[in-house]
Amino acid sequence: MRIIKSMLVLLALSALPLHAADSPNNALEQVVDRIISTEQTEMTAIKPFTPLVETYIQNLRGDTSLGSVPAGDKYFLGRAILAKGVELEPLTDGNEAGGVKKKMFGGLGNMFSLSMEYLPQGFLQMVYLDTNGFDKQHYKFDYVRREFLGEVRTLVFDVTPLAKAGKGRFSGRIWVEDQDFHIVRFNGAYSGSSRTNYYFHFDSWRVNTGPNLWLPAFIYSEESDLNFALSKRLSFKAQTRLWGYNLGHSAQEQELSKILIESQTPIKDQTTTANDINPVMAQRNWDRQAEDNVVDRLERLGLLAPQGEVDKVLETVVNNLEVTNNLDIQPEIRCRVLLTSTLESFAIGHTIVFSRGLIDVLPDEASLATMVAHELSHVVLDHRIDGQYAFFDRLLFDEKDTFRHFGFARTQAEEDAANAKANELLQASPYKEQLATAKLFMNALETRQRDIPNLISPHLGDRVPTNMTVASAAPVAAPAAAPAAGEKPKAASSPIVALPLGGRVKMDPWSDKLEMLKAKPVGTVAEREKMPFEVTPFMLYLTRQGNANSSAGMNNNPVTADSKAVAADKNAAPQQ
Ligand SMILES: [Zn+2]
Repeated sequence: MRIIKSMLVLLALSALPLHAADSPNNALEQVVDRIISTEQTEMTAIKPFTPLVETYIQNLRGDTSLGSVPAGDKYFLGRAILAKGVELEPLTDGNEAGGVKKKMFGGLGNMFSLSMEYLPQGFLQMVYLDTNGFDKQHYKFDYVRREFLGEVRTLVFDVTPLAKAGKGRFSGRIWVEDQDFHIVRFNGAYSGSSRTNYYFHFDSWRVNTGPNLWLPAFIYSEESDLNFALSKRLSFKAQTRLWGYNLGHSAQEQELSKILIESQTPIKDQTTTANDINPVMAQRNWDRQAEDNVVDRLERLGLLAPQGEVDKVLETVVNNLEVTNNLDIQPEIRCRVLLTSTLESFAIGHTIVFSRGLIDVLPDEASLATMVAHELSHVVLDHRIDGQYAFFDRLLFDEKDTFRHFGFARTQAEEDAANAKANELLQASPYKEQLATAKLFMNALETRQRDIPNLISPHLGDRVPTNMTVASAAPVAAPAAAPAAGEKPKAASSPIVALPLGGRVKMDPWSDKLEMLKAKPVGTVAEREKMPFEVTPFMLYLTRQGNANSSAGMNNNPVTADSKAVAADKNAAPQQ
């Protein structure tokens, strides 16, 4: 026993730091120096990038039972020129873009123009902790603890500006990964608020996208108690997402070099029969070419995700509807996802496009199928897109004109026809028994449209239909067990009619790839946790590049995705 004990002591002694002379204080100083220098390198490293930036703001009003609910919203999409600080090229039209040209006042972290409009730059600013003096002359660092953010081990510090550091300094907490000392998350506010300057609280996340590269990707901000113009109470919550960091033409260039290698082996044309193209085929090819051109252009702009697993989920639903309705559509239907949060869908030829936001908020597979059925109906009814996109010069336009140039919205007559056809398709489908929630979803959208007008305003396609008649076999679950007079209905028993934004799909800000969330079910969801169509904080599961193929995921979602279950559904007909 004695021997073992003394061995343990020896081991413990040899595990002591080699620089025994270093005081703990000294170690702290060294780490802080590393954090500061890494942050300075980071500020230079992000300069070449021009990601897309989307900010979606929901103003809030108090609600007795739900805490607070959306009352008005703002949407902004633009391209950030990080080499120029917080400069943004707007992609969206309207008031949001108009605000961009207005001068910011008050400096760092200010999100209002003089006319008290939200400024998109104010939100973009939150990718920076402090571009002008993040050092020991301006800040005090206090070590808090070690903490895992996902699989990344971090050191947590409280950071406070020193007395004479001046206004607009960051005050809050930082999380620093423990290998190269990159700040991967910072949460707090820019200090120095006064009556003419408004600063907001924010939580800013960076994700690892390559060796030594942590890029700003997700920012949640909110303010609940602002002394706004001394009387008006302004409170809001907002999500800012950055993506499209790797929008170069690397994929095309790789393909080209592959082709050049292949071309050294001559190709023998082995088809001896039927290789002429008849006029019907020619027209189909022509239409397909227009479709491909648009899809390709949208992907290069960073608006459409590259092909991936979420497309497959949508295509499975399309397949289920086609098979049960005996449809044989040629060329076959493809599905793609628009990367934006706005709720919209459209069909370009035989390509059906759903926005990420719409997939996020749909409560279940049957309601997804309802939306898919609508777009599928446009295809079945042969509502064509403009064939002009088959000419390549039509694709050469300035990025900022994208939304003006492309528009896939339909006429009211086409919308009505598609709604009627969709109902027909659904009645013959495996979803016909489950359309109650689809109905509730559309009702919820209808009742909330005044609170979230910008979320439901499409930029390219159609508004989500709210007036579609879906005959459902199951009774609509709305007033469950009619409450006795004077008794409040039991809120907990009401079904989930729509999920919060970010409820299903996660996005890789480097590659724009989308995946379905794989979150554990959370069990019973309280009424105020349902947050239909709402903005919620980000809580990322950080990973190091190389450990997994995705760089971020969210694990705070109240409801898990079940769309993947489609593939295993016994009703699902075999894939063609
Ligand atoms: Zn439509």
